Amino acid sequence: MNAQKENFLLAVEGLTVSFDGFKAVDDLSFYLDPKEIRVIIGPNGAGKTTVLDLICGKTRATAGSIRFGGKELTKMKEHQIVHAGVGRKFQNPSVFEDLTVFENLEVSYPQGHTVMGALAFKRDAAVIEAVERIADTIFLSDQLNEPAGLLSHGQKQWLEIGMLLIQKPDLLMLDEPVAGMSVAERKKTAELLRVITRDHTVLVIEHDMQFVGDIADRVTVMHQGKVLSEGSIEHVKKDPKVIEVYLGH
Ligand code: ADP
Ligand code: MG
Repeated sequence: MNAQKENFLLAVEGLTVSFDGFKAVDDLSFYLDPKEIRVIIGPNGAGKTTVLDLICGKTRATAGSIRFGGKELTKMKEHQIVHAGVGRKFQNPSVFEDLTVFENLEVSYPQGHTVMGALAFKRDAAVIEAVERIADTIFLSDQLNEPAGLLSHGQKQWLEIGMLLIQKPDLLMLDEPVAGMSVAERKKTAELLRVITRDHTVLVIEHDMQFVGDIADRVTVMHQGKVLSEGSIEHVKKDPKVIEVYLGH
């Protein structure tokens, strides 16, 4: 590993996973700079979600490496990867509907390991401060005492992002965060991601090209488990290969 590559927060190299002989991710390499916001786009079945599954340790790689801040993630268990600073949000929001917004954030605070343990744990000033700060970032200051079950779909997505943020991950991975959101919610989510990248590196999978253009520093286009194209949004939009397999449809 040369000196220059050590500067990447995440270095994915030759990553491959095969499911019964089918390579869902096939010799994939890409690199993330610290504080970068990268968007992965590509047709359904391209292998995008599988890449996040591999990075967070949900799926084991068949070959290749995932280096994150000097650690080899392919050798680590899911909870160790979380502990190393990787937070991952799945497509559907999974908040605790019966708990308030405050409580959802509180139980996600790194000191509380289980729901019961975290609720029994005395609310100290640091926790309250963190919860209020995150609630403000995710536009939910006015909903702190509402049960999460009463939030809109978009607000639940923001809450789940907040539940990851409160754990201070270095890398935050989001799978289609604006799916099902209104235009206004999409705009606010773009704003939110811009704020988040002041302190975190973000890897997002998304289809909405307007949203991708609003947030991405760079875009990686996947097709059949491989990188088809990579660069600025303008660059990939003009790439004939990308138009043929993805944007033209
Ligand atoms: P995308 O997110 O780009 O739509 P996925 O990563 O979900 O694509 O899936 C890529 C391909 O890998 C698909 O053909 C999917 O059916 C297959 N696949 C994903 N996970 C598994 C798995 N655990 N077992 C078998 N096949 C899988
Ligand atoms: Mg997917």
